Amino acid sequence: MARRDVLLFPDPRLRLISQPVEDFDADLAQLADDLLETMYAEPAIGLSAPQVDVRRRLLVMDVSEKKTRPEVFVNPEVLASASMGWIEERCMSVPGRSGLVRRATEIKVRAQTLQGESFERRLKGLAAVCLLHELDHLDGRLFVDRLSWLGRLRFRAALALQTRRAA
Ligand code: ZN
Repeated sequence: MARRDVLLFPDPRLRLISQPVEDFDADLAQLADDLLETMYAEPAIGLSAPQVDVRRRLLVMDVSEKKTRPEVFVNPEVLASASMGWIEERCMSVPGRSGLVRRATEIKVRAQTLQGESFERRLKGLAAVCLLHELDHLDGRLFVDRLSWLGRLRFRAALALQTRRAA
């Protein structure tokens, strides 16, 4: 296993769309391992392949309290969603920032394992929100795109301040 470098906002590569995984081989298993190691080192609760500059539809997450339940979703798609709610989100690609995002908190998802077997899962609460956040990355979207106008204003102001300090 190896930690990988995470692309940071506003890197344009974070805006590219990831392609479906077709080869369920050793490279894919290695990528999943590396994503988990990178995520646990943060520590974060989820990470997607495009964040480490690999445009494949793969994400990992672990929302367990003791970080003992790694989960891997290959080619995930949401089949149904319900119960919208506002959740405070963070992202390894947008360090030091957070914001309220409105998302479904109950979803049914279909995905494949690292061996290519198809499965369906119902996710609730943090697990549902985390999966949707990571799924956004596969389509080149970031949580900052989903902030309210006030949230976006705050985000931009914070960025401007940061840039001025760095200058
Ligand atoms: Zn993220």
